[in-house]
Amino acid sequence: MFNSLSDRLTATFKSLRGKGRLSEADIDGTVREIRRALLDADVAVPVVREFAAHVKERALGLEVSQSLNPGQQVVKIVNDELVRILGGETRRLNLAKTPPTVIMLAGLQGAGKTTLAGKLAKWLKAQGHTPLLVACDLQRPNAVKQLQINGQRAGVPVYAPHPGVSSEFESATGDPVAVARDGVAEARAKLHDVVIVDTAGRLGVDEEMMRQAADIRAAVNPDEVLFVIDAMIGQDAVNTAQAFNDGVNFTGVVLSKLDGDARGGAALSVASITGKPVMFASTGETLDDFEVFHPDRMASRILD
Ligand code: GDP
Repeated sequence: MFNSLSDRLTATFKSLRGKGRLSEADIDGTVREIRRALLDADVAVPVVREFAAHVKERALGLEVSQSLNPGQQVVKIVNDELVRILGGETRRLNLAKTPPTVIMLAGLQGAGKTTLAGKLAKWLKAQGHTPLLVACDLQRPNAVKQLQINGQRAGVPVYAPHPGVSSEFESATGDPVAVARDGVAEARAKLHDVVIVDTAGRLGVDEEMMRQAADIRAAVNPDEVLFVIDAMIGQDAVNTAQAFNDGVNFTGVVLSKLDGDARGGAALSVASITGKPVMFASTGETLDDFEVFHPDRMASRILD
């Protein structure tokens, strides 16, 4: 991910090396190259436009620095702008003052929600939390089973009632909203301090799916709604993110499949376009392929 963007930016900066002072023409040329590199990496047009304008404005205002040459100063500006579009500071998970903390996952089918649910559960358990996974994806055949397998791997129980399975809060209706509500009640009764609610997605944004997600949100009043997005989906990422933001007003973004070789720029746009921070990254199929997302580290990785 980001390899090509990274190479392009590095090449652009190389041409500034050795310059004692940057002329306006140097800056224009550099900003043009940066703009092209971002567009070729699939960063959304409005994000590129704003990015380029900020870089240009700051580069024109550069004071002669004792410690950094102009090329290094431009790298620093680009680094700052990357951090900014990725959401700025690292955003920690918002934990409820009175447990359980409710975390709802939303996103398209195949985005990586069920996988993320297992990863998040394992990560939280390692920090001493006692999570409960709740299987509300009743749409996709196998989603409940997949969550149960992930729960088993993470050593975390899964609330997944279905006909024939008795539970104190038998929802067993095939109604995901009831399952979500009962899952949270189960967590409260059994003293789990975090509940992770996995929800159904569809292949594309769809009114019924969004209504169901919004209904689940209203029923369980989550502390966090994490929008999981496949970083490989390219320019569609922006429209999808906007639709989910309008539909469920998510609180944070999870970039999944960051281990892939997609250009990655669309993922860069999501935080900037929605104003919601990227909080976690999913980087593979096993439960340990998961990291807290640090905008500054990602920016350094891109500019490495
Ligand atoms: P859901 O429909 O949103 O619940 O998506 P799943 O969690 O079922 O994931 C869809 C597919 O993507 C599965 O085959 C996962 O193994 C795979 N997957 C999920 N996250 C990642 C990731 O970070 N990297 C890679 N390479 N594959 C992933």
